[in-house]
Order: sequence, then structure tokens, then C-alpha cells
Amino acid sequence: MNGVRPQKKLSQNQLTQALFEVSGKVERLSMAFTHDMQRTNILLFTLLKELGKVEEIKCESCGVVNLRPIMEGIEVNPMCVECGERIEPWDERAFTGELMDEEEE
Ligand SMILES: [Zn+2]
Repeated sequence: MNGVRPQKKLSQNQLTQALFEVSGKVERLSMAFTHDMQRTNILLFTLLKELGKVEEIKCESCGVVNLRPIMEGIEVNPMCVECGERIEPWDERAFTGELMDEEEE
């Protein structure tokens, strides 16, 4: 060979150890992040509520109250954050057929 020593590889044990350390760090980071996000979320929704910019919709399916911002241009999730059931009433036009007949002349 040309004198370059092959790079020393980590043993299986060292790799496992390193992976373990990294995943522990990521977990601690993400926990701190989640905690911060929750706090920010609570602050934001408290503020919006005071401003009358939050609508509370109780899910018929699981009883959890969903808080949703009322702001122009902000798309809200029509599904329950807890169980995924639809909490928003369907557009009534969908039942009267107005939406479907538009293309027919
Ligand atoms: Zn629900």
C-alpha cells in the first residue's frame, strides 16, 4: 500500500454507546423544545382568547374542547386534535347539490 493507514473503525460496542449518547441528547433537547412550545402555545391562545380571536368547539366524539384561532388567512384544522373526528359542520351546500351541479348548463 502507499503508507496510508486504514482509518480505525469504531467497534460495535463503541457505536452502540455513541448512538445511545446521541439519542439521549436528542431526547432531552426535544423535551425542552416541546415544553417551550407548549408554553408559547398557552400564552398565544390566552392572548387570542382575550382578544376574542379564539373559537372553542367541543368535539362530539370525545368531548375534548378544541381551541381554534379565528384569523383571516389562517387555515384551521376541521378535525379534532384529540381523536381526529370532524368537529366542523360540513358545508351545507354539499348536501343541497349546489356544489356539484355547477358545471352543468
Ligand atoms: Zn375528538
